[in-house]
Amino acid sequence: MEKQYDVIIIGAGPAGLAAGLYAGRARLSTLIIEREKDGGQIVQTAEIDNYPGALPEESGSSLVSRMADQVQRFSVERVTDGVVSVQLSGTEKTIVCQKNTYRAKAVIVAAGASPAKIGCPGEEEFAGRGVSYCATCDGPFFTGLEVIVAGGGDAAVEEAVYLTRFARKVTVVHRRDQLRAAKSITERAFANEKITFVWNSVIDEIQGEGLINEIRIRNVITGEVTSMTPDPQDGVFGLFVFVGYRPQSGPFLEQLSHENGYLLTDESMRTNLPGVFAAGDIRKKSLRQVVTAVADGAIAAVEAGKYIEECQS
Ligand code: NAP
Repeated sequence: MEKQYDVIIIGAGPAGLAAGLYAGRARLSTLIIEREKDGGQIVQTAEIDNYPGALPEESGSSLVSRMADQVQRFSVERVTDGVVSVQLSGTEKTIVCQKNTYRAKAVIVAAGASPAKIGCPGEEEFAGRGVSYCATCDGPFFTGLEVIVAGGGDAAVEEAVYLTRFARKVTVVHRRDQLRAAKSITERAFANEKITFVWNSVIDEIQGEGLINEIRIRNVITGEVTSMTPDPQDGVFGLFVFVGYRPQSGPFLEQLSHENGYLLTDESMRTNLPGVFAAGDIRKKSLRQVVTAVADGAIAAVEAGKYIEECQS
């Protein structure tokens, strides 16, 4: 019979790591299951300037590695494994993963979200060959070249500014005539001479031979399609896609209440099942930021501790 933990936390992004810190400090026997590497989406962010206490010019991966080191000080167990299915009702919760099965009295789902796709022809074909979802990972490949950024939210505009460190020119293609991004980020982008905007437009098709050498852009008001091709001297260019995120909630949806895949909780991070909590970007919430993810994680861990105590009394 496998060990039964007090708490299993699924996901080692900021929400999961904060939950681990609080659960570990409360001396709950705790396991964090993460299928890839720590950090979730935030490791893809080159600079965090809106998390209180972040060091100047600190990257997402640096912040996360400090969070992970802090968790390690409290005897929290860690495993790399991918969730396949879950049994979340009753007093013992079972998490079936690719390598092993894990059991706990309480579960905190902090599995986060992954980049949304545009869904246009060529996007899948050119992923990793010109289409990227991570500027910090792939920006340097486009040093001295032109890049296109799809989207108009915080991620798109912030990463467009970051990409100007490498690219000669950055064109932001946004489906409306107004950015969704915060004013401070927007102002930085508007002031940057390397950035231009194509408004009311979406990426319709990506073409090329091996690498991208044509991107078709459709004006959503007029329907007109224009073709963007790289400077002949460059031959190729890159497309960075930042059109939002989708919750990674697949294995939980049959048992947990959700709206469009985002798990529903009360303000104590309780889901519809006793002893099951959700934290971070996988929740339905109004502000998805590191600062709200860590707050969710802390609340979920404290509530999980209370739940376990109540079950024992
Ligand atoms: P977001 O805020 O949901 O913005 C997505 C953007 O993509 C929007 O501009 C949206 O257009 C556009 N879009 C969506 N689907 C599209 C499609 N199929 N084709 C073309 N454009 C499409 O997502 P995000 O920027 O990735 O940010 C996600 C969350 O993380 C947000 O809560 C954000 O505040 C947070 N975040 C914060 C920071 C920061 O504070 N430093 C940095 C990154 C992310 P519309 O505007 O027309 O809807």
